[in-house]
Amino acid sequence: MVQIQPSPQRTGGDQFTIKWPSRKFSGLRGKGKSLIWSLAMAGSTGVFAEIIDGDVFKYYADGEWKKSSSGKSVAIINPTTRKTQYKVQACTQEEVNKVMEIAKSAQKLWAKTPLWKRAELLHKAAAILKEHKAPIAECLVKEIAKPAKDAVTEVVRSGDLVSYCAEEGVRILGEGKFLVSDSFPGNERTKYCLTSKIPLGVVLAIPPFNYPVNLAVSKIAPALIAGNSLVLKPPTQGAVAALHMVHCFHLAGFPKGLISCVTGKGSEIGDFLTMHPAVNCISFTGGDTGIAISKKAGMIPLQMELGGKDACIVLEDADLDLVAANIVKGGFSYSGQRCTAVKVVLVMESIADTLVGKVKAKVAKLTVGPPENDCDITPVVSESSANFIEGLVMDAKQKGATFCQEYKREGNLIWPLLLDNVRPDMRIAWEEPFGPVLPVIRISSVEEGIHHCNASNFGLQGCVFTADINKAMLISDAMETGTVQINSAPARGPDHFPFQGLKDSGIGSQGITNSITMMTKIKSTVINLPTPSYTMG
Ligand code: NAP
Repeated sequence: MVQIQPSPQRTGGDQFTIKWPSRKFSGLRGKGKSLIWSLAMAGSTGVFAEIIDGDVFKYYADGEWKKSSSGKSVAIINPTTRKTQYKVQACTQEEVNKVMEIAKSAQKLWAKTPLWKRAELLHKAAAILKEHKAPIAECLVKEIAKPAKDAVTEVVRSGDLVSYCAEEGVRILGEGKFLVSDSFPGNERTKYCLTSKIPLGVVLAIPPFNYPVNLAVSKIAPALIAGNSLVLKPPTQGAVAALHMVHCFHLAGFPKGLISCVTGKGSEIGDFLTMHPAVNCISFTGGDTGIAISKKAGMIPLQMELGGKDACIVLEDADLDLVAANIVKGGFSYSGQRCTAVKVVLVMESIADTLVGKVKAKVAKLTVGPPENDCDITPVVSESSANFIEGLVMDAKQKGATFCQEYKREGNLIWPLLLDNVRPDMRIAWEEPFGPVLPVIRISSVEEGIHHCNASNFGLQGCVFTADINKAMLISDAMETGTVQINSAPARGPDHFPFQGLKDSGIGSQGITNSITMMTKIKSTVINLPTPSYTMG
């Protein structure tokens, strides 16, 4: 059973650690249900008590947890129970204005804080985040139905990202360039140019529901180490996990107003935030919303990580056991709700039957059920998402795709489904289901596979499986995607690797180093000498 125990290391107030649930956790009735409710709120006790008021979580501004003057809240629906799990404040435009004003002045002081001190605070936040991984992971389980173990992994990975970012920042921001003028025709050595990286100002971070902690810190940490202030608008599903994470930064002791977190529906406060004149940079991860934001944002640097339709090209000489394992892991982890999930398999006709057979056998072994039980396939994030996925499945059925399993759905829970003999006239061949449904298109040449990959509006990642590295390199160069993985499924991590999408998949590049650089601007100081500097002696 779940156990809540006083933590051996109390940091003030009652602090608890939660031991992870056994398989008995789901399906409890009566008293069991109230146990689930108290557990759901368990993360909001002890050190997190101040972030909640009654049953509504507060927003974070000016170094304090606050109630919105709107008097309104936004409900967060548990994807498994389809009932309200949490509530967050619906912040007003006036509150956003105030947050921006404070963020602006806090940034001015922060930019003058020595780099090593900024790094020190980030390391502290990382340690606090990892220390409180259990209650934060609990929120991820309840808000976005992330399997329990993966939820813990997300928080730990986030702590590691913050620490790595602090170290990388110290290295890359500690260096600038020195240029001399006489390398350019017509110049003597009379000008010395010194360049360094300076912060942009206020960075607005908007992450998506599927990694509300990790994709928030991947924006927060680079922004802060580079001397910016940060305003976070978390996804509604995932907001409570994000608020807990923000509290870890609060506990670390960052200056007031440097980090803020405003909650509310993106459709209601999103435009006001993204078009706010105080915002100097937007780092967004999500779907097509990002395309709309890019058109409205104005003349500020944008980092956009958007959707994908990652293709997996399989050649005749590939190790089909390796391919099948990667397709199942890549296509069905977190029920396919990953930007870098394998979203279409393009396999040579001659090996397609064997590969489909192997994948089918592995799909049969996937466990399906609630996230508390750590099942492989858990409910998708919302009913509308489940309906969208079902629409793609029905379209494929009507147009004659081969169903390798029976289509089954209960509420938001969709059983894993492999669709063979998918053709380009089916929606699933092009659209991102963001669910546990994977299409297989049989191809008669590698060129056909590359053509399908490149005909997509998306260009996030892709992968190719072959024993021939020379061929793999040619295919990698031909695929119009930000990254190509050879003999492995697409993946965003490790978090310091460059990560970028072409076409509708994004603008700019993420990854720790690239994000720090993106959130800075080059500043030059030129020393002008009256005579060329090498004339003495
Ligand atoms: P989404 O619907 O685009 O939402 C992303 C974020 O935008 C949420 O925080 C959302 O808030 C907010 N938002 C909504 N409307 C807004 C507006 N008008 N202005 C500003 N912000 C607004 O995406 P999602 O459903 O959360 O995530 C799934 C998508 O993200 C998929 O397409 C997936 O491929 C993509 N993704 C990409 C990457 C990558 O790195 N390339 C990584 C992960 C996911 P609310 O929740 O309040 O609506």
